[in-house]
Amino acid sequence: MSFLSIALHSSHGNIFLGCIIISTSMRAVFLGTGGTYPCTERNVTSIAVQMGKDIILLDCGEGTQRQLMQSTVSFMAIRWIFISHFHGDHFLGLPGLIQSMNLNDRKRPIDIFGPSGTMKLLSQLLTSGYFAPSFQISLHDVEPGDAITFEGFKVIVGEADHTVPTLCYSIVENERPGRFDAAKAEQMGVPRGPLFRKLQLGQSVKISGRLVHPRDVVGAPRKGRKIVFSGDTRPCKAIIELSRNADLLIHDATLLSTEGRIAKDFGHSTAREAAEVASEAKVRALALIHYSPRYKDASVLEEEAKKIFKSSFAPKDLEEYTIKVVE
Ligand SMILES: [Zn+2]
Ligand SMILES: [Zn+2]
Repeated sequence: MSFLSIALHSSHGNIFLGCIIISTSMRAVFLGTGGTYPCTERNVTSIAVQMGKDIILLDCGEGTQRQLMQSTVSFMAIRWIFISHFHGDHFLGLPGLIQSMNLNDRKRPIDIFGPSGTMKLLSQLLTSGYFAPSFQISLHDVEPGDAITFEGFKVIVGEADHTVPTLCYSIVENERPGRFDAAKAEQMGVPRGPLFRKLQLGQSVKISGRLVHPRDVVGAPRKGRKIVFSGDTRPCKAIIELSRNADLLIHDATLLSTEGRIAKDFGHSTAREAAEVASEAKVRALALIHYSPRYKDASVLEEEAKKIFKSSFAPKDLEEYTIKVVE
């Protein structure tokens, strides 16, 4: 059976989309690190973020599905797509990717988010030709300030500073429970087994008539991990605020400072400016992205950024970065 099911949702400030997710692993796979147009060295912008078993795709430039096929990420595992803006190098890969999902008998729904106009533009684009999807595609217009809540994490929408309406996104893992002190629990007479589990779930247990409370054996909650994607942008306050203490900031670094004038005119950042944003926001690591095709080797951008912010790197296509839990 084939049916057309494109559901549209306008922005509501807060959206809850339930799903089962256990975000034990969190990593970014840089599918395409280039800006403007694909070149022999790299493809255009797309990043897959793995949250447990599911994938969030950030932007989907032309050719992203072939990058996915060469990566460690299954394109069928993509559950949500976030588009920063509607310049071709950030969204033209969508129709092909969605049609391939259909040809591979996808049944799971997919949700696509983007700036105002997403519903209108993508409902036309994704249904062009004789395409009739066999799974539900829900399109969402979102705006700065929106928070979309999933099970295990949320995505906060911010406003970038580009030549057209552009969003940036912060993926924030929920707070994780504090560390369980098994030795202390045993000392207090709690036997290993189901009572340990009860305490870990926040319930008190009774041992020889005496109550042992979770606070006695479980430490303070631990901060969730956070990844921020800037979209195409000039350096701006909104991104600094959105990125505060992020584990990874993925920021526009189209050009070197020697081309600062061009960066400014076209609404982009230099590697130095991206590093300044990272430094001010006190992030743990900065991944540069959206390199101009003029740079055959992006290491020049990395060198420039590192002078300002040491934990900068310029990933190559298909490179991966795992977000470790900081204790
Ligand atoms: Zn771009
Ligand atoms: Zn752009």
